[in-house]
Amino acid sequence: MLKTPALNTLRALKVLHLTAALRQNARKARYLFHKLSVTTQGVAVTVGAKRWNSRHPADILGDNSERRHFDPHSSRSPHMRDFEYQCPRSLAAAVALFAEHNGSARPLAGGTDLIDHIRAERLTPDVVIDIKRIPELNVLECSDQGLRLGAAVCCRRICATEEIYRHYTALHDSCSIIGGIQIQNRASVGGNICNAGPAADSTPSLIALDAVCVIAGPNGPREVPAESFCVSKGQTVLERGELLVELRFPARSPRSGSHYRRFIPRNEMDIAVVGVGASVTLDEAGTTILDARIALGAVAAAPFFAAPVSQALIDQPATDETYAAAGEVARQMISPITDMRGTREFRLHVTGVLVERVVREAVARAAAT
Ligand SMILES: Cc1cc2nc3c(=O)[nH]c(=O)nc-3n(C[C@H](O)[C@H](O)[C@H](O)COP(=O)(O)OP(=O)(O)OC[C@H]3O[C@@H](n4cnc5c(N)ncnc54)[C@H](O)[C@@H]3O)c2cc1C
Repeated sequence: MLKTPALNTLRALKVLHLTAALRQNARKARYLFHKLSVTTQGVAVTVGAKRWNSRHPADILGDNSERRHFDPHSSRSPHMRDFEYQCPRSLAAAVALFAEHNGSARPLAGGTDLIDHIRAERLTPDVVIDIKRIPELNVLECSDQGLRLGAAVCCRRICATEEIYRHYTALHDSCSIIGGIQIQNRASVGGNICNAGPAADSTPSLIALDAVCVIAGPNGPREVPAESFCVSKGQTVLERGELLVELRFPARSPRSGSHYRRFIPRNEMDIAVVGVGASVTLDEAGTTILDARIALGAVAAAPFFAAPVSQALIDQPATDETYAAAGEVARQMISPITDMRGTREFRLHVTGVLVERVVREAVARAAAT
């Protein structure tokens, strides 16, 4: 049993630890509890070679205002659990590593979702396998055959690729709004779809652009359409030991255009209340929609291909009435939830408005090609 002074000191150290973390003094925060021993004499913390002793919380607490930051009821651990880090340089080596660790390993691309999941202990991998150095996952090729996009290519590189801007514009739209520039320098489209968030910003574009997910695993490669890849919140079709290698997009037809737009309450750095991806192809005269693919995000457990909305556009004149009718079909086919970002009614309304606007823009882009 710890005596009261020792407990007080332990609490004080927790305050200090959390305060250090809050001040983003990450190094200090990470190592503070490196070695902690509570004795009848007080508390000893070993930070590297330096030993720091305290007999009284006031020695280390500073002023009382820092106490306000400490939430003793928080379920969130202030420090990250240990894991082993591996960085294979080939796809075969990565697949072998995943097989060896039999479900206890997790791929790391940019880490912008994964690190937060590990910190919050939503995911507790023993091994983190960095996939950013694998050549197959870094491919970015645009040709007459279409686009090949490695799963670990970061959003910033995608935005800087002119062919993507010109022919796969919805993908460019998505990548340019994910987080901010720092996040885009790390975050990959592969990580975005594998994280399987309902409001993931690139997934509706992948679906609208008819992308196929190329998967590698212990039983060999396989392909799954992007629209079938996410099955529910945080759940994908990936089986144990499998990883996403690349996304393949078909070549774009003449007079095609695409767009992604989301509604967020703030100007940036927010999670979509509704997200809409659209791809359309016009006839030679540019007046009739020959083909359309519409995908909706943030209004179901996973982004999905809105087949009825797409059907409502195909073979229809490219007019405001057609776009409004498609918006109405979208409203009728969804059953969104109410949450802190918006009520069900608000989402229904916004979905219709966004479908209209996104299709109009995709058509304008198609007409301009
Ligand atoms: C400040 C901030 C702002 C953000 N803003 C947005 C936003 O506006 N829109 C948005 O959609 N997201 C946003 N995100 C979330 C995040 O940045 C994206 O989901 C990002 O695309 C994830 O990519 P990543 O490379 O960082 O994935 P990681 O974090 O490395 O991985 C994500 C998940 O996918 C798994 N994984 C990664 N790659 C593979 C693979 N090839 N095969 C199998 N599994 C894999 C990982 O194990 C992990 O579970 C934001 C995050 C932060 C921190």
